[in-house]
Formats: sequence, structure tokens, C-alpha cells
Amino acid sequence: MVTVNKNYLKLQGNYLFSTIAKKVAAHQKENPEAEIIRLGIGDVTQPLAPAILKALHKAVEEMGNVETFRGYAPEQGYEFLRNTISEQDYRARGCEISPEELFISDGAKSDCGNIQEIFGTDNRVAVCDPVYPVYVDTNVMAGRTGNFNQERGNYDGLIYMPCTESGGFIPEIPREIPDLIYLCFPNNPTGTAITKPQLQEWVDYANRIGAVILYDAAYEAYISNPELPHSIYECDGATECAIEFRSFSKNAGFTGVRLGFTVVPKNLKRNGAGLWDLWERRQGTRFNGAPYLVQRAGEAVYTPEGRQELSAQVSYYMENARIIREGLEGAGFTVYGGIDAPYIWMKTPENMGSWEFFAYLLEKANVVGTPGEGFGACGEGYFRLTAFGDREKTKQAIERIRQIESIRK
Ligand SMILES: *Cc1c(COP(=O)(O)O)cnc(C)c1O
Repeated sequence: MVTVNKNYLKLQGNYLFSTIAKKVAAHQKENPEAEIIRLGIGDVTQPLAPAILKALHKAVEEMGNVETFRGYAPEQGYEFLRNTISEQDYRARGCEISPEELFISDGAKSDCGNIQEIFGTDNRVAVCDPVYPVYVDTNVMAGRTGNFNQERGNYDGLIYMPCTESGGFIPEIPREIPDLIYLCFPNNPTGTAITKPQLQEWVDYANRIGAVILYDAAYEAYISNPELPHSIYECDGATECAIEFRSFSKNAGFTGVRLGFTVVPKNLKRNGAGLWDLWERRQGTRFNGAPYLVQRAGEAVYTPEGRQELSAQVSYYMENARIIREGLEGAGFTVYGGIDAPYIWMKTPENMGSWEFFAYLLEKANVVGTPGEGFGACGEGYFRLTAFGDREKTKQAIERIRQIESIRK
């Protein structure tokens, strides 16, 4: 008789974005005239930059010519891309990461989930609260947690590290000892960045206890403060304890194109095995590589034109972030993030629940955001707005929030 993976039955439907979509649809039906502005889902809106389009077109032509046609890509990715990344993302920042330590992939979400396949199911996993749901759900699927505890609103067996206002939304070293530690900076959803000394503390801690840090740096391109680390390998000893995930989704608008990479240092060993060897075997067996066309598009991200165009794109979104942040502060809200990340994490007024605030904004202002509670119990009382929208709509949304807020007061 067929049995299913019972771990999947423990999953709480991640109804967050579908619940939001249903509520928005119902509101639109009742108010057909309402012009709803969506600052909820974290997807980019600006089109691909010209340098990237040019590279894509050129690669398409190559695929139609017998001399330049490419079939299966090398398993770890093309050297032209790995050499460029090693040089520009790592060596230029003083990090000794070689092209062999890079694994090109179709994105950071799949890598963050897949990486746990190379670790035993008995590892204890630590995650931040609030958290990007992928880290939690993939470990539930793998059987690294107990059941969902309805009362606490989270899973048994996971170590949750609260990220609170008083702690600047940076987690503290947990009381229980973890084996795998997920960190994401700049952070989704809180929009907070970590300083190099703070990150160094985590690296030292991981090396002391033998843990492995799974570091998600998907938003590094949004860092504006030159003191902040873009990579965990800027910290001493990180190649002995950390795996880093990067994505082209947020810095280059590749959410629909798909490209990312994972860094597994050759130094990183546990249980007498090199994690590089395990991941190389895993990817070689299960993954067929990112398309040639897309890897050429990724290479264009690092050309002088690409760099210039994408830096303008990041600035466009970060100007939205400034408009949201300053607009809300001006209206009397307490607001975090939006300086080194494209997310604004606002405190709901007068301890309003985050779903209550969601309903209030939708009803009165026709503005959609994401209730903090959807990212974890510690997100209650907060609300996430994204800077990935259109400029005019973002301005309108903030103006509407300011107006209803002046009436509410
Ligand atoms: C958007 C995002 C990613 C990117 O995932 P891709 O699969 O590369 O699109 C990774 N981590 C976090 C926290 C994100 O918000």
C-alpha cells in the first residue's frame, strides 16, 4: 500500500498570500470602483535592463547556430559566470571564494530548501521569528520538526529566535544549541541589516559549537551603508561554518528569468565529510543546471552597463522605500527597515492586531500590505510594505494612509 510522506501532513497551509488574495478579491467585488494598490507581495515590477536583454538576444542567436549551440550545461554552471562572480562579488570584497566553490542554480528559494538534503534529519534547526517561510516548511517536509503547536503558533522541535524591536530585530544566540542556523540579511520581512561585528559573533558561535550557518544574502544589493557586510565570508572563519545563498531575483529583476547560486567552501567539513562533495553530488544527480541563455544574462549583470542600469533600478525601488518610510513616520507611525532593504516593517497603531490593521487599510484606503503575523508569532503587531511597486502608486498609497490616519486620530 502506498504511504505518503506524513511530514507533509504537519504543514500548516501557507495560506498567507492566498488568504490575502481572497480578502482583496472580496473587497474588490463589493467595491467595484475601488482602485486597490498592492504593496504586499515581494515581487519586482521593473522590466529587465537593456544590457541583460542584449545578452539574452545574443545567446538565443548562438543557440540557433551549429557552431555555437550548447546542450547540457556544466553541472556547477558555466565558468564564464563563476569566474565573474568569484572576482566581482567575492575577491573584490576581500573574500577568498574560488569559482569551484560556486554552484549556479535556478534561484535561492530552491537552494535554501534543497540544501538540507545533505544534512541528517536529526539536526536541530534554528530560525528567526519572523521568518521567510521556506526555511521552516522545507524542514517540516524533511521531518526535522514535530507537529504544529496551535497555542504557540509554531512547530515543536524547531528553535525559534525572536527578532524583536528591543533587539533591533537581530536574533540573540539561542539558549538551546542548534546544528543548523538560518540567517537572512538584509532581512525579509523586517528590512533590517546586520553589522559586521554582529555577524562575526554568529560566525564565532557557529565555529565554537560546530553548527553550520545557512546565510541567505538575496538582498545584499540593497545595502546602502558601506560598513555593512554583503557576504558572510567578510567575517573571519566563515568558510569553516557557512553556506551562502545569492539570487539574481531582487538585484536584477530575474524573478521570472530564474538564476541564483550557492557558495559551499571547500574548507567546510562535518562528520568527516566535505559539504562541498555532498552538494556537488546532490546537484550533479538531481539538477540539470540553469539554462545557457540565463547564465549569459547573469553574466551581463556584472558588465559596466549592467552594473549601471541595475544600480539605477535598485535606486528606483529604494526611493519608493524612502517615500514609504518618511511618509509613514510623518503620519506618526513607528517604522523600521527601508534603508538597506526594500521592505518597510511598520508597527501597527495602538497595538492593533496585524490582520486587523490589514482589514482596516484595505477597507479605508484600498491599500494591501502583508500582516506580520503571517511570518511568525513575533510578527504580530507589525505590517510589511514593499518598495517594489510603481512610483506613482506608491506615493498614492502613502497619501491615502496619511489621510485615513489623520481621521482615525
Ligand atoms: C525573494 C527571496 C529570495 C529569492 O529567491 P529566488 O528563488 O532566487 O527568486 C530568497 N530569499 C528570500 C528571503 C527572499 O525574499
